Amino acid sequence: ASRFENITMAPPDPILGVSEAFKADTHEMKLNLGVGAYRTEDLQPYVLNVVKKAENLMLERGDNKEYLPIEGLAAFNKVTAELLFGTDNQIILQKKKRKSVIDVCVFCSLKVATIQGLSGTGSLRLAAALIERYFPGAKVLISSPTWGNHKNIFNDARVQWSEYRYYDPNTVGLDFNGMIADIKAAPDGSFILLHGCAHNPTGIDPTPEQWEIIADVIQEKNHIPFFDVAYQGFASGSLDTDASSVRLFAARGMELLVAQSYSKNLGLYAERIGAINVVCSTADAATRVKSQLKRLARPMYSNPPVHGARIVANVVGNPELFSEWKDEMEMMAGRIKSVRQKLYSSLCTKEKTGKDWSFILKQIGMFSFTGLNKAQSDNMTNKWHVYMTKDGRISLAGLSSAKCEYLADAIIDSYH
Ligand code: PLP
Repeated sequence: ASRFENITMAPPDPILGVSEAFKADTHEMKLNLGVGAYRTEDLQPYVLNVVKKAENLMLERGDNKEYLPIEGLAAFNKVTAELLFGTDNQIILQKKKRKSVIDVCVFCSLKVATIQGLSGTGSLRLAAALIERYFPGAKVLISSPTWGNHKNIFNDARVQWSEYRYYDPNTVGLDFNGMIADIKAAPDGSFILLHGCAHNPTGIDPTPEQWEIIADVIQEKNHIPFFDVAYQGFASGSLDTDASSVRLFAARGMELLVAQSYSKNLGLYAERIGAINVVCSTADAATRVKSQLKRLARPMYSNPPVHGARIVANVVGNPELFSEWKDEMEMMAGRIKSVRQKLYSSLCTKEKTGKDWSFILKQIGMFSFTGLNKAQSDNMTNKWHVYMTKDGRISLAGLSSAKCEYLADAIIDSYH
């Protein structure tokens, strides 16, 4: 008998398992709306032109494959913090140091500890480890619903979590009062996990006015905001607009955590490139926090991969590539907006009961939360070959305009 006899079969991952089932289906109209990955109008994966150009530059330069330091590529850490907080943000300082006769620009993040992470997931996991070690007993509040992996991450890090109300099924909108009440009711000094933009799975974001009130309550309660920014630039098409929630909190001088991912906005899914930023009220605290983040990373994975970090550093650090990236991001966000509009129109035309579908247009980002329950989602898959998560979320990034009508038929059939 195997020594592993008492290890039982793990359940399939609710998101990644959907892609497996999709692959096995041979129906010609099949649609994979499960995973949040951008597809072209032909429903093919897309490698951004700026990524190819950055990779060519790297080849031409003959960049080596030596280990990175534990905290990652310095040029990446510099640009990732600038992209998030804005280059002229007070919390990021560029100090010029004189080295012999030449001026060397040394990055000195005054109040932010930034270290490269294994994309959004790995960055969140590192922050969870920091919470577990230095805030024993502290609770993390996550939105109900949220991206499924948040619960796994905090469970594995042995950090307690509970949910705050977020989604209101009656309006298919934000339960703002519920959210505020739950944040108020949490023990003082809790971590409040917030989606910086394009909330996953609902696609519903607070308005700028609501963000101000959320910040007020978090400040009153001495909570620590913890942003998950997986879609910067992908929600509105603008990097600055999508970072405005984080910047609003930072401008108040609050201490906060921000996990970043380049999976979606640069299409670097498999490169595992992201960062964790901890904004502290003093530079001294930031230096100490950074040293501890490195200490946590070392036994987990030693040091992060270099390829994606170089791509980001090259794209963001080169004005021509940076501007081309923004155009490509606008193009991707634009394609998603256009299928969103087309799906909405098809639903309105086909639906005879006068159901209000306007919630679809109010949602933002890659996803639409359809309000379909588990049984209805099963009908979408079993009868219509539309693969999606069982919470009713569909990824519009996996939809083409050619298939909007088909999807509308499937949704209407499943609702009734
Ligand atoms: N956070 C949210 C809300 C997400 O939706 C995702 C990806 O779907 C991630 C984090 C992390 O993705 P990755 O680890 O690929 O950066």
